[in-house]
Amino acid sequence: MEHFYQKLPKIELHAHLNGSLSNRALVELRELKYGTDRTGESDDGFYKILNGQLLSLEECFQKFRYAHDLTDRRESLELATRRVIEEFARDNVVYLELRTTPKSTGNMSKREYLITVLDVLRNQNQPGILVKLLPSIDRSKGVLEGEENVTLAIELAALYPGLIVGLDLSGNPFGTKFADFVPSLRRARDHGFRLALHCGEIDDDQEVKEMFELGVDRIGHGTFITGGNLDLAARYRIPFECCLTSNVKCKTVPSYEDHHFGKLLELQQPVCICTDDFGVFETSLSRELEICAKTFSLSHKQVLDLQQKAIDYTFASNDEKEQLRAVLQEFETQMIKAF
Ligand SMILES: [Zn+2]
Repeated sequence: MEHFYQKLPKIELHAHLNGSLSNRALVELRELKYGTDRTGESDDGFYKILNGQLLSLEECFQKFRYAHDLTDRRESLELATRRVIEEFARDNVVYLELRTTPKSTGNMSKREYLITVLDVLRNQNQPGILVKLLPSIDRSKGVLEGEENVTLAIELAALYPGLIVGLDLSGNPFGTKFADFVPSLRRARDHGFRLALHCGEIDDDQEVKEMFELGVDRIGHGTFITGGNLDLAARYRIPFECCLTSNVKCKTVPSYEDHHFGKLLELQQPVCICTDDFGVFETSLSRELEICAKTFSLSHKQVLDLQQKAIDYTFASNDEKEQLRAVLQEFETQMIKAF
């Protein structure tokens, strides 16, 4: 990878915790849960998939299932969260909004789940990276669970000031109605949380309209936002979170060249490049920016500009945004000298 993309201080606004576990982290978590003795273990394909080249979509989904299974207790969730932050920091990500759905397992409640993640965020001493949390509502889990997550987010935001900055809505959009989640999301917003919704992932104009009516602060993917909805997104300057490799691998866009990032760039729509699930899709934010630059012929200056603008789209405080601007400014000064 080119030096520039790695060195560039980066802003990551769309990253799911479980999908951001690298193969190395998954192995570590597996050993923590099942031990290092591989003899006699039932062959569920774990090591084969981790060593596999060019995973199929089904194999990618299998990695999510491993990640869920391996983060089902506080000790492992804590380690997982630490590893994710370390890997983003190693990639020179200076600001990270991490999202995760609180889960109750046989070993912990949803509340314990969120507290575990928040404790890591509060105590993390990785230099040079600021990390915030967006608790997720998983649509496939139903409205009541969503309501519970909002209640928990409100309660824990008071105990962990400045860490929970918004809510994410994700999960399989098929078979659920967005309108059912509106009261919960409205309650979250009334409480001061910003909303980053997976929006326009499927071709459903009406749902996108409903999300805009509620007021979405950032659009996750937005693959199928076109026509009048795209005009509205332009009028309200709603930033799109574009996850190129994730979309190509999940086949929601046919190729990098056909990714809607190209059109958004042309329209001068606010947009940021994100990884979605760098562990599952075996990428990094540096790599995504490099792919984006090569595909859409962006100069280093334009890529830097994307990061500088992304600061405005974060849910960080004004002071934090100023600090991030200073980091990017310093890099730009160095870049002018060196490149
Ligand atoms: Zn996502």
